[in-house]
Amino acid sequence: MFYTSTRSFIDNMTATKAILQGISEEGGLFVPTRLPQIDFSLEELLNWDYKELAYRVIRLFFDDMKEEDLKYCIENAYDSKFDTDKIAPLACAKSANFLELFHGPTIAFKDMALSILPYFMLTSKKYNKEEKDIVILTATSGDTGKAALEGFANVAGTKIIVFFPQDGVSDVQKRQMLTQEGDNTLVVGVKGNFDDCQTGVKEIFGDNDFATELNKKNYAFSSANSINIGRLVPQVAYYFSAYAQLVKAGKLECGKPMNVTVPTGNFGNILAAYYAKNMGLPINKFLCASNTNKVLFDFLQTGTYDRNREFFLTASPSMDILISSNLERLLYHISGENTELIKEMMADLKEKGLYTITDGMKEKLSDFYGGYADDEITKATIKKVYDEEGYLMDTHTAVAYATYDKYVKETGDQTPNVIVSTASPYKFTGSVMTAIDAQYEGKDDFTLLEEMHHLIKGDMPKAMDQIATRPIKHDTICEVSEMKHIVSQFLV
Ligand SMILES: *Cc1c(COP(=O)(O)O)cnc(C)c1O
Repeated sequence: MFYTSTRSFIDNMTATKAILQGISEEGGLFVPTRLPQIDFSLEELLNWDYKELAYRVIRLFFDDMKEEDLKYCIENAYDSKFDTDKIAPLACAKSANFLELFHGPTIAFKDMALSILPYFMLTSKKYNKEEKDIVILTATSGDTGKAALEGFANVAGTKIIVFFPQDGVSDVQKRQMLTQEGDNTLVVGVKGNFDDCQTGVKEIFGDNDFATELNKKNYAFSSANSINIGRLVPQVAYYFSAYAQLVKAGKLECGKPMNVTVPTGNFGNILAAYYAKNMGLPINKFLCASNTNKVLFDFLQTGTYDRNREFFLTASPSMDILISSNLERLLYHISGENTELIKEMMADLKEKGLYTITDGMKEKLSDFYGGYADDEITKATIKKVYDEEGYLMDTHTAVAYATYDKYVKETGDQTPNVIVSTASPYKFTGSVMTAIDAQYEGKDDFTLLEEMHHLIKGDMPKAMDQIATRPIKHDTICEVSEMKHIVSQFLV
C-alpha cells in the first residue's frame, strides 16, 4: 500500500511517512494509490467489537505498521476515555438511527480520529527514524482543536499549536480549549474565520524557508487536521460499525445497502464513508448536509465550487467553512487520478475562488445528494425530534436530520439510513436549549449545562466537569498575518 499526492505523482510513499509529513510539498493531499478491498465478509463484521473492527479496517490502509504496533495504537486510543465500550453506539429513535460519535473525551466526533493520531504519529516517527520533535499545527472550527490538544498534550517528542477563530466558536468550545493543560500546548485565538485559520496554517506548511529554519531548531511540522491521512482512515472504521449495528438492531438485512447522512464541513467525515463504500461496504447514497454556508450544496447542484460569497456564523459553527479541504481527495478519485487537472482546479480556487468540474466527474457524483438547513430549520428540527421522540440532538446533527427528512420526502427512498451524530448537545447548550424552549433565552452556556442535565437522562459527560471554573491557561490573540510569528516564538 503506497500513498501519492492529489497534485503530483509520488513514488513509494508509505503510510507512516504520509502521516508524519501531513501534507505533500506542493500542497496536495496524500491519497492511497488504490483503495483497498475488504478481506472479510459482512457477516464476520457482526461478531467484532469496535477495536477488532478498527484493526481489520485500518490495517488495510496502514500495512507498513506491524500488527502489534497497530494493535497497541488501537488499544490505547479506544479505551476508557470513551464512556461506552461500544465507542460509537447506534441510537435508534423512532424516526431515525443516529451513529453517536460523541462518546469520547471532548464529546465531538473528532475524538474518533484524534485519540488515535498521536499513537500513529509516534509509531510513524519510530519507523522513519525521525529524531526531531513533531510540531502539530492545527486550524480548528471548534472541535478539532480540543480533541487534538487532548490527544497530544504531554506526549513526549511533540508540540501542538491550535489556531481557532476568536469569534467563531461556542462558549463551551472556547472554554475547553483555553483551559488546556500541558507544557507542549499553545492555543491562539485568531481575528478571522476558520478559512483564514486553515489557509494560514497551510501557508506555514508551504513555506520552505520557514521549514528549513525550524529544521535547524530540530522541529518538523505535521498536521492534525483531516488533511492528514492518519485522521481520515480511522473514520472509515465507524461506517463498518454503523452497518453491523444496523443489522444487529434488525433494521437492515445483512448484504443490503444503507444510506448515510453526514453533517459536513471540511468533507472528511463523508469522504470516509465514500472510502468505506469503495472498499466494499454496501452504501447507496451519501446525503451531504450543510448549514447556511452551503457551498457544497451548490457544488453538488451545479458542478461549480464557488467560495466567493458571504460567510455566515451559524448555530453549527463546526461547519462554518467555505473551503472544504477533503473535497480535493474526492475530485482526485472521480477525475481518474488526474493530478494535472486537480492542480489547475486548486490553483483556480486559490486565485479566483472557484472552479468547475468536468461532466464526466459530475456523473460520478450521482451517489451524493446535497441538502442544507438554516438556523431556523435546524432549531425547529431539534425541537420537533425532542418533543415527539425524546431524543435531543446537537445543532450539527440537526442539520443532518433536516437534510435526511427532506430527502425522504422528495424521493420516497426507504433505504435504511444512518444519521451521523457529530457532537453531544452539551457542547452547544445555548443553541440547543433555546431551540426547545424560549425561556432559556439570555442564559449563558454554562448555566444551561445544568438545565440540560435535568432534561436528559444519564450522567453529565466528564468533559463538562467544572468547565465553568477551570483556570484559563491561554490568552494569546493574533491577527491572521501574525500566525507565523506566533509559531516561531513558541518554538525556541
Ligand atoms: C468537524 C465537525 C463537522 C464537520 O466534519 P467534516 O469532517 O469537517 O466534514 C460536523 N460536526 C461537528 C460537530 C464537527 O466537529
